[in-house]
Amino acid sequence: MLNKIIPEQSIQKAKKIIERSDKIAILTHVSPDGDAMGSSLGLYHFLLQMGKSVNVLVPNNFPGFLKWMKGVKDVVVYEWKKPLAREVIEAADLIFCLDFNILKRIEQMGPLVERSTAKKIMIDHHLAPDPFCDLTISHPEISSTSELMFRFICRMGFFEYIDKNCAECIYVGMMTDTGAFTYNSNSPHIYYIISELLQKGIDKDAIYNKVYSNFSESRIRLEGYVLYKKMKIFKEYNTSLIFLSLEEQKEFQWKKGDTEGFVNIPLSIEGIVFSAFIREEEELVKISFRSKGNFPTNLFAAATFHGGGHLNASGGEYYGRLEDAVALFEQALPLYADQLRENAKSRVE
Ligand code: 5GP
Ligand code: MN
Repeated sequence: MLNKIIPEQSIQKAKKIIERSDKIAILTHVSPDGDAMGSSLGLYHFLLQMGKSVNVLVPNNFPGFLKWMKGVKDVVVYEWKKPLAREVIEAADLIFCLDFNILKRIEQMGPLVERSTAKKIMIDHHLAPDPFCDLTISHPEISSTSELMFRFICRMGFFEYIDKNCAECIYVGMMTDTGAFTYNSNSPHIYYIISELLQKGIDKDAIYNKVYSNFSESRIRLEGYVLYKKMKIFKEYNTSLIFLSLEEQKEFQWKKGDTEGFVNIPLSIEGIVFSAFIREEEELVKISFRSKGNFPTNLFAAATFHGGGHLNASGGEYYGRLEDAVALFEQALPLYADQLRENAKSRVE
């Protein structure tokens, strides 16, 4: 039996809202990742089984390694289909907000959601949710929104409505938000859920390969290049940094998703507990942080780049030159020297 995480009151409230709704919009955050798409499409397949009219909307495009998932063809990308997206949001009587907890994360769709009179349900696992929904199901202790989605559907008593498509999507989200169950994944309940998903007929090995063994030649070469040429190690701070300019990305025909996971790689170097990846985009510089142990990357992200996220995975943005973002990062490191050293030490003891 799965332990109960979501309060019963929230489950009953959600069930009533869903029963009374016919047109449902599912929204997730900008640059959707595996968990964003997995939880959204998982809910999409479930609601289809329930006979609802349902649409998934995302602010912008998502990586190619997620495009095999069932239902992706019906996803409305706001950036490409603004009038249709607006129409869907305006017509909705229920809006689900998945894998984000502040409207800023859905960019231009934010004001549309704010204006909408539809009921709103948030299901998410980031810290400090903004209170913009009628019902907020927020559990930062759970490693993926997709796991929460499985729990949510089951607790409403609708386990039978989880079909193979839904199960596949939920598995993708659980797998990608834990680095294929290599971090944030010590809860035994995760494996109970996987066992239930397997009973629904998913092929977990095939899913792994579709997500992780699906790279283009240039993506693999880019990985080799950044590790050889663009990775700086700050031994005294147990920290690593990879930074990449737009020009370099063009040289390797960078596509969305190509640099996904790069930030995790240096954490496999002995003694490295904090890793940063700084990537230049057309209009801003995007920063990703990862850590091992209890070094709070989200506090670093907030203090240095007005960003945020989880303890071990966070990010931020910088509006300026790549070199300046790199300098800002390097200047901030000494402020965390003690914490970084302590954390590294506690990992070898
Ligand atoms: P990633 O490094 O995969 O882009 O992001 C990891 C996590 O950091 C995300 O799940 C999100 O919680 C958080 N994050 C990334 N970028 C930002 C940002 O610009 N602002 C805030 N507040 N959080 C971010
Ligand atoms: Mn997530």
